[in-house]
Amino acid sequence: MTAEHDHLEELVVHDQTHECGGFGESKVCVRIVGVADLPTRFGHFKIVGFWNNREAKDHVAIVHGDVVGGERVATRLHSECLTGDALGSLRCDCRDQLEAALKRIAETERGVVLYLRQEGRGIGLMNKIRAYALQDRGLDTVEANLALGFRDDERDYSIAAHMLMSLKIRSIALMTNNPNKVDQLQKLGINVAERVPHLLPPNPHNRFYLETKKNRSGHQIDFESLRVAEQADPVVVEDPEGHQ
Ligand SMILES: [Zn+2]
Ligand SMILES: [Zn+2]
Repeated sequence: MTAEHDHLEELVVHDQTHECGGFGESKVCVRIVGVADLPTRFGHFKIVGFWNNREAKDHVAIVHGDVVGGERVATRLHSECLTGDALGSLRCDCRDQLEAALKRIAETERGVVLYLRQEGRGIGLMNKIRAYALQDRGLDTVEANLALGFRDDERDYSIAAHMLMSLKIRSIALMTNNPNKVDQLQKLGINVAERVPHLLPPNPHNRFYLETKKNRSGHQIDFESLRVAEQADPVVVEDPEGHQ
């Protein structure tokens, strides 16, 4: 086994007795419970499984290289999206974001994707489907969430912050277009050394959703430069209906 595998294995043993009395406002505690090899079509990773004291959700980290004790570790926080990640839905850009993150991290010396089980920006799959139904009737993604009684974004990053600390990551280069994510992590004690833009060209189905993220939720997305990137870069979302 490699040194990085040994370092992760040590954390599994170390975490058996970990108890920090709760972390962040929500008093979360997580423990690393297992680590295994994960060869993927994007590169070779380790998958690290976490237990937490809040909810019966199995959050994981997908790790490349030796991140334990690392500085400026390339980091992506990905919130689970069943429709996008697994089913290839074009209503959002989640799958493209995830695949691009895995590819980019596989090319760096050390990096991690936290795969967080907070479907639908934290509102859950059933409510996401209800929100989609409202969007089919003309509401935008923010209006739909508000109509269902949720905030625009219900995600809470205290579990993610603890996961990074459990991995003994000292500072991160966060791959995000969302300045709010940087703020939230910093408030939770994570050293965000830099923000790396994570931009992908939109497809005809998700352009409106991305524009809403930019205009309503403060995401930093520059459509003009994406359009240029789109023309220069062959990585374009496949559209089965040929709307490209
Ligand atoms: Zn803890
Ligand atoms: Zn999605």
